[in-house]
Amino acid sequence: MPRPLQLTIHCEALQHNLRVARARLQGARSSVWAIVKGDGYGHGLARAMRGFAAADGLALMDLHDAQQLRVWGWQKPILLLAGAFQAIDMQPVLTLGLQLVVHSEHQIDWLQDLPADAAVQVYLKINSGMNRLGFAPADAGAVYRRLLSTAGVGNVSLMTHFANSGVSDSAAPAPSRQAQMQCFEMATQGLPGQRCLLDSALVYADYDLLSDWVRPGMMLYGASVAPGAQGDDLGLLPGMTFSSEVIAVQRLIAGDCVGYGGRFCADRPMVIGVVACGFSDGYPRSAPDGTPVLVDGQRTCLVGRVSMESLTIDLTQLPQAGVGSRVVLWGRGLPIEQVAHAAGSIASDLMCGLSHRVPVLETHAA
Ligand SMILES: *Cc1c(COP(=O)(O)O)cnc(C)c1O
Repeated sequence: MPRPLQLTIHCEALQHNLRVARARLQGARSSVWAIVKGDGYGHGLARAMRGFAAADGLALMDLHDAQQLRVWGWQKPILLLAGAFQAIDMQPVLTLGLQLVVHSEHQIDWLQDLPADAAVQVYLKINSGMNRLGFAPADAGAVYRRLLSTAGVGNVSLMTHFANSGVSDSAAPAPSRQAQMQCFEMATQGLPGQRCLLDSALVYADYDLLSDWVRPGMMLYGASVAPGAQGDDLGLLPGMTFSSEVIAVQRLIAGDCVGYGGRFCADRPMVIGVVACGFSDGYPRSAPDGTPVLVDGQRTCLVGRVSMESLTIDLTQLPQAGVGSRVVLWGRGLPIEQVAHAAGSIASDLMCGLSHRVPVLETHAA
């Protein structure tokens, strides 16, 4: 028997979350790139593709992943979010019919080699303050004209990416979303073409929806991007549930300690459950005592350091619990944001950190 560890991917929740995104965008009629980078934020690329079958396109970073999507039958647009990495990428870009972000001059050089009738659609990316990928705002006009005069280039759209979710703009650190927005608008003034701006922050309805295409990631998997908020506050459903079982029980007396380094010591008699899940499975080793877990639907918490293939939890207040009790580490009933917050991390880091050896069950109905 394998260890009783399981990752359940709720495809119906991915579908639901995409509907929530669309409902928010109703007035703006934006098209949706569903972001499936990072192996579909840890949900599995093929499962993300199935969950987002109704998206207008899928966007990711890796050419090989894009190729997989085509092999699996995805016929709608695919966008490479960092564009091509080498000149030889142009051939598969053509044969797979991919769209490209263009963020640097050498990528435009590669576009020169395209056949004149290639009509590759590109997204000119402007660095509006995040200082990751993109052209300097002052160069936007010249780059735009260079793209227009490149024979193999079809439509040119304009995009930028925000460094902050901007949900509480007054408290947000620099660069503020507003400042980036202004920078983008100035840089692209007078340049025709579709705009592609918003990420998951589109769920906050007070946002101006100036985006012809939006690029939500996190929200589609059911988690919030705003500090302190949870996906369920926004009507989102968790895309995954990570669960296991209690495989052993230990009874402690005052003074007994648990696990490596004796990080947690009991000051009273306690019952400890050992759960088949550890940091090699993707549970964060940084999780401190007190990190929430759900046992047979009831909340309790982690005590003691997380081991490679097990972790320990407090069952003292749960007399019914014992070997075989179901433990939800995050997902339905236990928002991943709470676990991530406790561990000093973020939801997408936990999702993407799951080991590929965790058995996956895919559901299609609630
Ligand atoms: C990851 C990513 C997104 C999605 O961001 P979320 O915060 O997960 O919604 C959008 N655009 C780009 C360029 C990205 O890399």
